[in-house]
Amino acid sequence: MEVIIFKNRLLQIFLIAQVLLLTGMGVLPNQKPEKCALCGRDVHEITKTLVTFEEGKDEKACCIKCALKYEAESSKKALAIRVPDFNTGETIEAEKAFYVVGSDITPCCSQKVMIDQAKMPFVLCYDRCLPSVIAFKTKEEAIKFMKEHGGRISIFNELENFEK
Ligand SMILES: [Zn+2]
Ligand SMILES: [Zn+2]
Repeated sequence: MEVIIFKNRLLQIFLIAQVLLLTGMGVLPNQKPEKCALCGRDVHEITKTLVTFEEGKDEKACCIKCALKYEAESSKKALAIRVPDFNTGETIEAEKAFYVVGSDITPCCSQKVMIDQAKMPFVLCYDRCLPSVIAFKTKEEAIKFMKEHGGRISIFNELENFEK
C-alpha cells in the first residue's frame, strides 16, 4: 500500500514538473516527433537526414543509414541527401560530410531498458541503424569526436557501398 502511495506521489511530482517544463519552454504537449520515412522510428535532430527524390519534397530519415537503405530499396536515385553537422546542426550535403561510424552515440537506439525472457536487462536497439553514423562538416571535427566517443572515420562512398 505504501509503495503505491509513494508511486502516485512520484507520478504527481513528475506530471507537475512536466507541465512546468512544457509551459516554460512554450512547447505544445501534443506535438508529435517526426518519423523516419523508412523505419517509422522517431527522428532525432542530430542524425536527421533529408532525402529528396522529387524537387521540393524532402523526406526525413532517422539517420543516413536509413536514407541510403531507402534509396537502395526505391527504384529512383535520390536527387539529394543532406545530413546535419553534429556540432552546429547545419545541414550539409551527405557526399561532402565526414562520418564517424560505430561511436558510443547511438540516437536511433532507444534508451529504454527492457527485461528479456531470462530476466536480464537489455537496451532496445534497432539493428538497421547500428553501428551509428554521425556526420561532421570537417574531418578535424570528426577525428576529435572519434577520440572521445570511439568509432572510425568514413566517407559517403564507403557508406553507400556498405548499404548495397
Ligand atoms: Zn529510420
Ligand atoms: Zn536510424
